[in-house]
Amino acid sequence: MPVALIIGASRGIGQELAMQYKAAGWRVIATARKEEDLAALQSAGCEALPLDVTNLNDCAGLGWRLDDEKLDVAILNAGMFGPRTSGLTTPDQQQFDAVMHTNVLAAMRILPIVLPLVEHARGRLAVLSSGMASIGERSNPAGWLYRASKTALNSVLKDVSLSTDKAICVAMDPGWVQTDMGGSGAEITVDVSVAGIRQTLAALKPADNGKYLQYTGAEHGW
Ligand code: NDP
Repeated sequence: MPVALIIGASRGIGQELAMQYKAAGWRVIATARKEEDLAALQSAGCEALPLDVTNLNDCAGLGWRLDDEKLDVAILNAGMFGPRTSGLTTPDQQQFDAVMHTNVLAAMRILPIVLPLVEHARGRLAVLSSGMASIGERSNPAGWLYRASKTALNSVLKDVSLSTDKAICVAMDPGWVQTDMGGSGAEITVDVSVAGIRQTLAALKPADNGKYLQYTGAEHGW
């Protein structure tokens, strides 16, 4: 039975990823940081692991909890938007630290732990990036802290991809999705986004290692 690890599966895209892989017959290991979310994941048939991605001990514990797993798919989904300011409003240090810690530093802690487990299975590793990470396609400076964090995450993913030829690692733009973060006016539903992400990951070839992709499978400009 193939195994998927979903990091940040309490709600939104992460929860839907866990549910769709489960419904497709996969063994799903899903993380959340709140007791009630862990219980809900367990009730849905997932193996639930406690993980706040900004907690150093939790991240270190992930390695020994996963021990010698072979992960066919691992997805780092947990992320935060931070202040919804317009234009060049400078974030304060607390806002900067929270967004960069969650979206970038956590990836630099977690990906080195997870990559060997994905390599064991010759599997696929994805981080949830954003279309807003693309520098070349920008038309205004909206959400610049979030954008800076996701562009940095893309850089982190690229370096992870350069360190391996035994896994296929990609930065994934899920589209503009109807979740707490995307809002109810977003373009696509969470099930459409997640179905596309799963299909795109399933179709990856070794030559796709290090690519920045949309949930449709189309390649993104950096
Ligand atoms: P939501 O805000 O709906 O959910 C965010 C998820 O991240 C929750 O499961 C949340 O857990 C988890 N999370 C946040 N901080 C932490 C933390 N410190 N430790 C553990 N888990 C944490 O977001 P979406 O589902 O919309 O987004 C998922 C990913 O996709 C994010 O990385 C986001 O940046 C990206 N994305 C989303 C888009 C959209 O339109 N929705 C567009 C582009 C990218 P908890 O419930 O405990 O807070």
